[in-house]
Amino acid sequence: MGRRLLYLSSSVSISFYFFAFLQHAALLVVVNGNNNLISPSSIPVNRDLYHSSGDLMEQIKALVDRHPDKLTMETIKSRNKGYKADISVVTYCQGGRENDDRSKFRILLSFGQHGRELITSELAFRILSILSEEQFLASANPASLNSTLDKLIIKVVPMENLNGRKLVEAGDLCERRNGRGVDLNRNWSVDWGKKEKDYDPYEENPGSAPFSEPETQMMRRLALSFDPHVWVNVHSGMEALFMPYDHKNTTPDGLSSYQMKLLLEEVNHLHCQKRCMIGSGGGSVGYLAHGTATDYMYDIVKVPMAFTFEIYGDGGASSKDCFKMFNPTDLNTFNRVLNDWAAAFFTIFKLGPQHLGEVHSKLPVSKLDNDYLDGYLKESSRYGKKTEVLELGMQEIRTYFRLFLLSSVLLMFMFCSRISKSKSNRPVVPAIPL
Ligand SMILES: [Zn+2]
Repeated sequence: MGRRLLYLSSSVSISFYFFAFLQHAALLVVVNGNNNLISPSSIPVNRDLYHSSGDLMEQIKALVDRHPDKLTMETIKSRNKGYKADISVVTYCQGGRENDDRSKFRILLSFGQHGRELITSELAFRILSILSEEQFLASANPASLNSTLDKLIIKVVPMENLNGRKLVEAGDLCERRNGRGVDLNRNWSVDWGKKEKDYDPYEENPGSAPFSEPETQMMRRLALSFDPHVWVNVHSGMEALFMPYDHKNTTPDGLSSYQMKLLLEEVNHLHCQKRCMIGSGGGSVGYLAHGTATDYMYDIVKVPMAFTFEIYGDGGASSKDCFKMFNPTDLNTFNRVLNDWAAAFFTIFKLGPQHLGEVHSKLPVSKLDNDYLDGYLKESSRYGKKTEVLELGMQEIRTYFRLFLLSSVLLMFMFCSRISKSKSNRPVVPAIPL
């Protein structure tokens, strides 16, 4: 008994040390594998200023419910290889859904494409609050604002990258990619996958193929069906008003390029005190970006005014202090950024249709691109769906097979135990009669 106890206690202590070692090793892996978790010197998310993602979406939903005459909301869901994502889209249209006709001027705005840029989703909420008339712009004349908004349909995606944002909220303040490590602003098809010399997968992983990510697929579908006149992809990290192209060092030729530049100069003058950088993303920012949303909107969806706005950046912040680099950390700056940029968007709402002219004609998605879509996207979208269904089917078959195996083992066990029971109950018959 004593020996056995000793043996037990020694095996318990060995397993204890083994598990302690495992825990320690796991901790080391976590610490070494991700050096972007909060370090003691970096500033965490300021909860007094910023909503959590859940709270923000709830507030937006409640706002929409209070104003059914102006706002509607839908949530799109998609999945790919077990990775699920959903995107909520809020539509502003005076008079509600009934007035949602194609003669109106269409504007599509996306916020929070990069997880760490929390301020952008706060701006989406501010714009929606002003559109619902629960908040007001200091400078705007309500009558003129009303006549401007009457001609528009505005679709707002307040948080394009909800999964990435959740990683940031869990402490990975430098994360910009989606929930499985893909940069949603490198996953589009225009010049996809090209890598510059300073390529950093932590920042710019383009995914396994164009539109490999559910978030990008949903945004692409939304853009092609809504067919907007104005697209703005809202980011933070600096102050800039970018137009195409991101993948090359030039702006496009022609009238629409001139109209875009004119509009951006006006916005810079009125709302950015001329501090904002203006020009092509690729030409101004100091690096080329391949597979971006704005280049796709301009080249493929033929959006005549396609922009990327960078609404705030703290160049003095340490590169490890991501929350501070991308988001205002004091109340005054927070309010100043939201007020200035909400006003800038209402200037776009007013001047966008004027600059494009009364007819605001828009080219349809080109035949060539349709062919491209029919060809390539069959693989990633339509055929992708088939593959996804097939994969789902395989998963189910695997689950059923496992259940079948388990029940067979159980049945065998029951059968065997029954046999052995009946054997032991049977009277022993000697082989040789006595
Ligand atoms: Zn960004």
